[in-house]
Amino acid sequence: MTRPVYVYDLDALAAHAGAIRAALPRPVELLYAVKANPDPGVLRTLAPIVDGFEAASRGELRRLAEVSPGRVPAAYAGAGKTDADLAAALAAGVRRIHVESPAELRRLGALAAAAGRSAQVLLRVNLPVDAPGASLVMGGGPSPFGMDPADAVECASRPPAGIDVRGVHAHLASGLDAPLAATVAAAVVRWATAELGAVEVDVGGGMAVDYADPAARFDWVGYGRALGEVLDAYPGVRLRIEPGRSVTAYCGAYLTEVVDVKRSYGEWFVVVAGGTHHLRTPAAKGHPQPFTVHRRRGADGARTDGGPVTVVGQLCTPKDVLSSSATAGPIGVGDVLAFAMAGAYAWNISHRDFLLHEPPIFRTGDPLRVAVEWATRPDLVGREVP
Ligand SMILES: *Cc1c(COP(=O)(O)O)cnc(C)c1O
Repeated sequence: MTRPVYVYDLDALAAHAGAIRAALPRPVELLYAVKANPDPGVLRTLAPIVDGFEAASRGELRRLAEVSPGRVPAAYAGAGKTDADLAAALAAGVRRIHVESPAELRRLGALAAAAGRSAQVLLRVNLPVDAPGASLVMGGGPSPFGMDPADAVECASRPPAGIDVRGVHAHLASGLDAPLAATVAAAVVRWATAELGAVEVDVGGGMAVDYADPAARFDWVGYGRALGEVLDAYPGVRLRIEPGRSVTAYCGAYLTEVVDVKRSYGEWFVVVAGGTHHLRTPAAKGHPQPFTVHRRRGADGARTDGGPVTVVGQLCTPKDVLSSSATAGPIGVGDVLAFAMAGAYAWNISHRDFLLHEPPIFRTGDPLRVAVEWATRPDLVGREVP
């Protein structure tokens, strides 16, 4: 039995990220939100394609320093920044610090003044945005993230010493399709320029990834066109986006092997090595993770009858459900399952020490080729990639 394997397809990632960059008008800056997947190979692949990285912890700053030495992170963001976090961001020369509250702005001002520096900041604003087409209001309710609009206006009109307020940051929702994301971007830029005199606006991430439809993609071309119209309407503004999930989700897969199949009160369960302590996305987001089945060559163990299955892992909790399918066909012990769309918020959000199972192996390549190799020659899979 080989340990479960994460396979990152870095060629596919480069192609996908390159297509995103190409779909956006040049003046729009594309940042990658490191928290979606901070894997060094992923960051190295993205480094020449994106305009910068958004870090949200000192750990992410350290990771970026290792992966792209000498390259200054574009943004430092996140709730609950300690003085040590803010000082580290200042010391790293991060281009923009995204500030979450008036009190945080005062602490940052004091630290910057003490260091004899000026901090260039965007104020994160929790703005109510009306999306008429979607009959939806986003932001504008009580939240730990960002400032109320009136507080942001107050901060911008009387910034503490040591602070240069450049503009506004707004990351209001996730799962936005392109028309909705464009509506939000236009509304944020309108408010930021009119109320705050912003010269820079970062409209956040949150571009939709549809786990129920692995072939669907966020319409980057349509979104880029809409952002072009925003730039035409506000020619003085520097516009920035910071997606995470929609950049890396498609480039990773989690591969594992079936340990047991069983029928329980009429329903089939497929038990695999590993589980949601390696791939927490389906538990966190509440979806069945899409997967393909690769029949083990020469397998003669137990098989399901081809009916609906629930795929679970090795944890002692009923929440350890990776997927379910009515159409996967027969699945047997030893078969290899390749869970797609595991390149974002997957391994790095998982409660990896629960039950102290072995961690997965990581390698690069084409996930389906690796799955086929594994199902035919298990000895080919377990090599750790340096
Ligand atoms: C998480 C986060 C992002 C990235 O969001 P995605 O949904 O992964 O695109 C961007 N900005 C902020 C402030 C975030 O917290």
